[in-house]
Amino acid sequence: MFGVHDLRTWAHDPHHSVDDTPFGGGPGMVMRPEPWGEALDALVPAASSGPATARLVLPSPAGKPFTQATAAQYAGESHLVFGCGRYEGIDARVAEEARARMAVDEVTIGDYVLAGGEPAVLVIIEAVCRLLPGVLGNTESATDDSFGGGTGPMAGLIEGPAYTRPRDWRGRTVPPVLLSGDHAAIWRWRRDAALRQTAANRPDLAARLAAGHLESGLGAPSAPLDARDRQVLSEAGFPPSAEDMAH
Ligand code: SAH
Repeated sequence: MFGVHDLRTWAHDPHHSVDDTPFGGGPGMVMRPEPWGEALDALVPAASSGPATARLVLPSPAGKPFTQATAAQYAGESHLVFGCGRYEGIDARVAEEARARMAVDEVTIGDYVLAGGEPAVLVIIEAVCRLLPGVLGNTESATDDSFGGGTGPMAGLIEGPAYTRPRDWRGRTVPPVLLSGDHAAIWRWRRDAALRQTAANRPDLAARLAAGHLESGLGAPSAPLDARDRQVLSEAGFPPSAEDMAH
């Protein structure tokens, strides 16, 4: 169940203002703590004992990276409350005070600055909801994605290319192995393609894999690299590390 709330409900001056000038000077405006405090009091019921069961998620370019692992964690939460900032962000005491009674995460969806937290929260909600049971038609489609965490050829890697009918489109044909029905060969082809895609688009991940780290840090671990995996990575410019060769 979703609820959307207007912060100005909890701003009591005639203009329902939610921002003010920053202490210490500087450009822009900062969101005042009082409306946020009242909003959280109203929306997060106090637990009879211990911390509240809700988790407060505050999108912020200064937060910790939101990853597939975070999405999986949030998919298991019973109540998420998102606090979308505007202007220069929210008075820092709001997160500090909330932390005394609930779990609070400050998360960034990437290294760029948005005007407000709303699009970041849409991104987070979409990533979390597609992990909930029944949301995707085929449950395997989530686990076999890039970062998906399945046991498929793409686990822990960037997903490689996909094809559908027709077999021949504008003179471009589908890789014949995908039509072969040979499951082992298809698995191998997909794994090679995923490794090449990772090397081309995510050199940070490819370097970690080549150095023997199967945990990319973004989701599920990759299956241990076999000789063919190493050859593909090596050809794509990521030879095994010296340390790895010694083992
Ligand atoms: N002065 C702040 C930027 C505020 S941007 C700073 O430099 O850190 C205004 C709001 O947009 C933030 O409060 C946050 O809610 C949202 N936002 C901007 N970029 C974001 C990002 N990369 N990830 C998540 N939220 C972001």
